Amino acid sequence: MNVSQPRPQDEFNRVHPIVSPGWRWAALTGAADRESLRRMQGQTVKVAIVAGTRPEVVKLAPVRAALAASQSFTPIWISTEQQAALNRQTLATMGITPDLCRDPPGDAQSLGGRFAHVMGQLDHAFGETCPDLVVVQGDTSSTAAGAMAAFARRIPVAHVEAGLRTFDLGTPFPEEGWRCVVGQLADLHFAPTGVAADNLARNGVHSSRVFVTGNTGIDSVRLTAAGIAPEPATPGLRRILVTLHRRENWNEALDQVLAGLLDIRDLVPDVEIVFVAHANPALRRRVFAMLEGQERVRIVGPLEYPEFLAPVKSSVVVMSDSGGVQEEAPVFGVPVLVLRASTERMEAVTAGVARLVGVEQRSIQAAACQLLTDEQDRQRMARAVSPFGDGYASERIVEVIAARFANLLASRPAALLNAG
Ligand code: UDP
Repeated sequence: MNVSQPRPQDEFNRVHPIVSPGWRWAALTGAADRESLRRMQGQTVKVAIVAGTRPEVVKLAPVRAALAASQSFTPIWISTEQQAALNRQTLATMGITPDLCRDPPGDAQSLGGRFAHVMGQLDHAFGETCPDLVVVQGDTSSTAAGAMAAFARRIPVAHVEAGLRTFDLGTPFPEEGWRCVVGQLADLHFAPTGVAADNLARNGVHSSRVFVTGNTGIDSVRLTAAGIAPEPATPGLRRILVTLHRRENWNEALDQVLAGLLDIRDLVPDVEIVFVAHANPALRRRVFAMLEGQERVRIVGPLEYPEFLAPVKSSVVVMSDSGGVQEEAPVFGVPVLVLRASTERMEAVTAGVARLVGVEQRSIQAAACQLLTDEQDRQRMARAVSPFGDGYASERIVEVIAARFANLLASRPAALLNAG
């Protein structure tokens, strides 16, 4: 089913009548808090939202806001805290106070141990809150553990950003495995694009459960970015903004990329490289060891979400292995060089606004220098197109959830009253 029709701006503003980005988030979440106690009494449909990492918070905040705005639903935010610092930083930016905050897994635990911890915490949280639906996003441990814990309690699961695939369980690891598991268990699959919906069909998911909505990350860009001024570049320099954090790039690849960045700096005299460092301590150590104090290289971050979008807006090129950044930069007409061997977000590459450049020093250097020395080529990529959505995915998701729970809503008169 395809529900990805463009939505007029005035219709969205009618539902969310708030003007500046800060106000938008605060007002939406404040309204949710005022209602939450009464709603918790079981008069509405309870939707547990599970998030433990920065991208999950960015991409589920607008879903929570749309659920709260519909009045028929009680969103219950459950924070699992795998990326404790980034998670909390982004929750604060979005004005979200989690309804339940679970202890983070220990840093020293194995991947399986962390997963088991998160799943145990979520099983307990679902037992406590008895949600009618569990919403998970993307492909993290909390996504798969949330879906499995809900499934075990026979609670239906909705998967936001469903259907991303490389069809290689080793890349990205463990994300490809986690999202395949959720693809088997979910009741509602919210695919960001037609390509993602086709992937689900290849995996045997029936089309009646798949909805092409756009990516909710683009909703967050739309709700936040309009009020953010592009951060001015250092006078006389063009900015390349870089992020790198994915597990497959932690070792050899990281050194190759960092060396490639220094090559670019040496070869193009008017560029400045701004490396937005992740919170991961091991990554930070290596980034600082190689880039700190280098001429025309700055290390910043992790930045709050609006403060991250500001320099993205005014960069000439973004180089990143981040899924979210691959989706966001094209919205601002900023070309993306994808620092990975493969990507599950080929839509941007196909649209000509991103290039897959791998993680080898030479290939990175060649791809960046090409764009920085051939402005016509760069301009061809610098088109503000958004292959991943129009910024109204969350409303579509809530419409589908409302239709799916029509019978339950009908049996809870208070919910209908609120909806009217
Ligand atoms: N982001 C942020 N601050 C930063 C770097 C990134 O808020 O310093 C945001 C970015 O805008 C995007 C999200 O974090 O929405 C991407 O998260 P990340 O790269 O950690 O994960 P991925 O998208 O690769 O799963």
